[in-house]
Amino acid sequence: MTIWVFGDQLNRSIGALATADPNRDQILMVLSETKLASRPWHRQRAHLLLASIHRFAEELRAEGFDVDLRRAPTLERGARDHLAETGADELVVTEPNSFDGHRLAERLGARIVASDQFLCHYSEFAVWAEGRRQLKLEDFYRWQRRRLGYLMDGDEPVGDRWNYDHDNRQRAPRDLMWQTPPTDALDDLDHEIIAHIDQYAPHCWGAPPDGTWATTRRGALERLAFFVEHVLPGFGPHEDAMVERSWHLAHSLLSPYLNLGLLLPGEACDAVEAAHRSGAVPIASAEGFIRQIIGWREYVWGIYWREMPEYRDLNHLGAHRPLPPVLADTAPTKMNCVTHAVTAVHDHAYAHHIQRLMVIGNLALLAGVDPAELNDWMWSGFIDGAEWVMLPNVIGMSQFADGGLMATKPYAAGGNYIDKMSDYCGSCAYQRSQRTGDDACPFTTLYWDFIARHADRFERNPRMARQVSASRRLNDLEAVRERAVQVLELLDRGEL
Ligand code: FAD
Ligand code: SF4
Repeated sequence: MTIWVFGDQLNRSIGALATADPNRDQILMVLSETKLASRPWHRQRAHLLLASIHRFAEELRAEGFDVDLRRAPTLERGARDHLAETGADELVVTEPNSFDGHRLAERLGARIVASDQFLCHYSEFAVWAEGRRQLKLEDFYRWQRRRLGYLMDGDEPVGDRWNYDHDNRQRAPRDLMWQTPPTDALDDLDHEIIAHIDQYAPHCWGAPPDGTWATTRRGALERLAFFVEHVLPGFGPHEDAMVERSWHLAHSLLSPYLNLGLLLPGEACDAVEAAHRSGAVPIASAEGFIRQIIGWREYVWGIYWREMPEYRDLNHLGAHRPLPPVLADTAPTKMNCVTHAVTAVHDHAYAHHIQRLMVIGNLALLAGVDPAELNDWMWSGFIDGAEWVMLPNVIGMSQFADGGLMATKPYAAGGNYIDKMSDYCGSCAYQRSQRTGDDACPFTTLYWDFIARHADRFERNPRMARQVSASRRLNDLEAVRERAVQVLELLDRGEL
């Protein structure tokens, strides 16, 4: 029989591969030319994918497997050609991580083996969600903690608190520095892929790979060990902070490995819990990290499967502005916060969570950018892009395009929030508190314009009603809205 391994299932111990036998089973891996050419991938993203797939195929070959790693016009064509050429009696797949992948496996008549790549199978999430009026992350997270036993003393949370989020919203002190992420030297395979990357992914952009992103399981485990030892102790307090001098702060940079299967969520949480129990890591940092993994990550996984396929096309706020040049073409901007976020994406195919949500996402939300266009841009630009994680985060959390399923209110904020959490505003050409005039912070102007634009919709939302009445009391609202028109024109022309 043939076991077909998708490019985001690169782990020997999950699903169908867990029981695979080199004496019995053949392995199929397909590089889809259509998928690689379908969007303008970031170079580092394209390299990560291609190098990880090639190296995983090599590891399986070293174990004795016959691996058919083939390029094909589409995934389907590749699988059908393989079956025709080898005469394999059965095609087996581990449940694919995307809705379309699942449909494809069904269409091909493959035997689908349950996946244990996540800690909560989406069928378990569906049972948890059944009959609840609201799918609150905190409820799900506590359910997961109890079920999985992370940071628990019997039935109670370690430290007697479930959540240290409140302690983890500090601004970063001026003199604090973070460990530089490890890098690996690029080898012959890397150079070969980089030299021919345009043949695989014809429209790629961004800085070339520099060894930051590991492309093997061993490399991913080394990154996890580095994070736990050197970075995790400071993970908690400055989770929401943004600074000019660091693109990563105390973030783990583990998402690409988790999303490709090179790392499993359970082993990341086990390592973090062990570090806390040994006394090396404060509870706020350990809890903060474990909440991201067993809470947020698994929650968006469950939401994706529950809401697909309709979720892709949601646009609750009727936002139709095309992606502005500052994102589409990395056009220069005087907005210092945006410059730092977009430069991080260009240089590393990465921006950390608050840059994604409160800078890039916030700008798109306030400006009324089409959520699907923003989603596509992030998908092709981020090292960790995948449909299941992007739709709930981008369409739901960041753009409020699902009308409040993921977030009870839009993540909209003016310059004051960005100033509170960052050191960007001091050296910016714009004035964060000003909402009218040429020097006004575009976020502040657009924030009030956004609230006024959607006042009828948001006045019924208990978490937004106060902002709506504050906007109605602004004595310069007319001038703010006139300035907003200018700001949007400048944004559209790439001149903001
Ligand atoms: P850390 O800050 O170190 O967090 C640890 C881990 O927690 C992450 O590696 C990730 O696996 C998990 N995690 C934390 N928050 C989330 C979340 N909201 N959803 C899912 N997992 C989470 N994540 C992706 O994996 N791919 C994406 O393409 C992606 N796009 C995003 C777009 C927007 C607009 C927003 C708001 C969030 C997005 N996220 C995405 C979620 C989150 O921002 C990233 O997982 C995180 O920034 C990855 O960096 P890290 O590994 O250094 O994370
Ligand atoms: Fe960003 Fe406004 Fe601050 Fe400038 S002033 S960095 S545009 S929030």
